[in-house]
Amino acid sequence: MNNFYTSTRNNTIKISAKDAIQQGFSEDGGLYVFPNFNNVSINIKELKNKSYQDIAKLVLRQLLPDFSDKEISDCVNSAYDSSFDTDEITPVTDVDNFHILELFHGPTSAFKDVGLQLLPQLMKHSIANKRVMILTATSGDTGKAALEGFKNSDKIAITVFYPHNGVSRVQKLQMTSTTGNNTEVAAIEGNFDDAQSNVKKILNDASLKKELGNNISLSSANSINIGRLIPQIVYYFYSYKQLLQNNQIHTGDKVNFSVPTGNFGDVLAGYLAKQLGLPVNKFIVASNENKVLTDFFNSGIYDRNRPFFKTVAPSMDIQISSNFERLLYYKSNGNSEYVKKLMNELEQNGKYKVSDELLNSIKKDFYCGYSTDEEIKQSIKDVYDKYGYLMDPHTAVGYKVMRDYERIDDSCPTILLSTASPYKFVKVVSEAILKNNSDDDLQLMTDIQEKTGIEIPKNLAAVWNLAILHKDVIKKEDMRDYVKMKVEADLYDKN
Ligand SMILES: *Cc1c(COP(=O)(O)O)cnc(C)c1O
Repeated sequence: MNNFYTSTRNNTIKISAKDAIQQGFSEDGGLYVFPNFNNVSINIKELKNKSYQDIAKLVLRQLLPDFSDKEISDCVNSAYDSSFDTDEITPVTDVDNFHILELFHGPTSAFKDVGLQLLPQLMKHSIANKRVMILTATSGDTGKAALEGFKNSDKIAITVFYPHNGVSRVQKLQMTSTTGNNTEVAAIEGNFDDAQSNVKKILNDASLKKELGNNISLSSANSINIGRLIPQIVYYFYSYKQLLQNNQIHTGDKVNFSVPTGNFGDVLAGYLAKQLGLPVNKFIVASNENKVLTDFFNSGIYDRNRPFFKTVAPSMDIQISSNFERLLYYKSNGNSEYVKKLMNELEQNGKYKVSDELLNSIKKDFYCGYSTDEEIKQSIKDVYDKYGYLMDPHTAVGYKVMRDYERIDDSCPTILLSTASPYKFVKVVSEAILKNNSDDDLQLMTDIQEKTGIEIPKNLAAVWNLAILHKDVIKKEDMRDYVKMKVEADLYDKN
């Protein structure tokens, strides 16, 4: 009865939510999934007048059955007490004929905060007497959000790897200035996919496990961890509730969500919300020029053998959308042998092709498109000029693809997920809306604030004056040794 989760690559595995959270992902290389939604649901009629925290508790109770009510309450209350700059946590703003769900009001001004404020709380209740080193590969935003979430946790340390020269100036400052006696940060000579695949390798490294001993375990704060993904289900319900409360929809009406997508975690959380009963017409999956998913939707072939582009929406510069594996599991009706075969092909040849049946089933729930860098800038400018709303470049990707979809089907209202504050990506934003451009990001922040009157989030205004505490730059081959060294520094000596 306590074993609810299984692996996308081996559905004979059964483990508890706590074990799944502590391990991060399955030893067979698969991701943990909640296999069957038949007996869990959220009654949308009960959403009205519920706070964000109330809805979070409802969702967690459904999907984390081995947590007690008290544990769930403690986790949610600690995660979302004062760390966000609004009581609503994820407010909804109306713009033109659509709605923007702002996910960037947390301590690092990126949507990753929503998951990463709660994950450490869930982890705390999942590790029993172990000590845990969290390993995180970041394309920019996850790193700082994870560091803030886990900073000063008892018995848990965190190491973050980011691509050298692959993150924005602000993102880099945010990470390298992190305090806390259990935080480690290193730049990798490589791109995000290098960092991510090496982290996966290290997490699966049996000999390293032996060397570290039984008392230490390695885990992940990336969206491959269900403890990171489940918190993201909440804001889909919360935004629906907001539209209900504003009488913009009636209970049961379907809505679309447009989701700027990289690792497919955010939009997969939406799909899980739908499995729990949220009335959704389409999920609009929006990519930047790294459009491996758009090509998949057109051909049924997932092919990562292609040039890698550094775009102006760097948190989505990804060619392997890890969480897509979970969708393949659900859409093949839990056929883990089939998922394993596809994932082996991806590892060996860099590509796989799915059956027409599977592709059509995916297309029932999802639409996919992409935006070029030029279109991103144009969208930021258009939306600011026409409606006075300032989007970050990732949100602008979602906006562009949302408009594409509208031309095919405009029967349902659309909620556009806004995944970062525009102040995290001032270069592009200023190119879009300001005439004069400086090389100095701090100057640009100030200029944007002056022009738009939108206040700079406190954490971003403060970052320029903080001491740089993390300066390591390492080769991607050296990540394993680095982790070992840091485990010894952060976890062995401390009781
Ligand atoms: C991580 C991130 C995304 C992509 O989210 P996934 O869950 O990886 O699909 C989009 N926008 C921003 C700003 C991000 O940080």
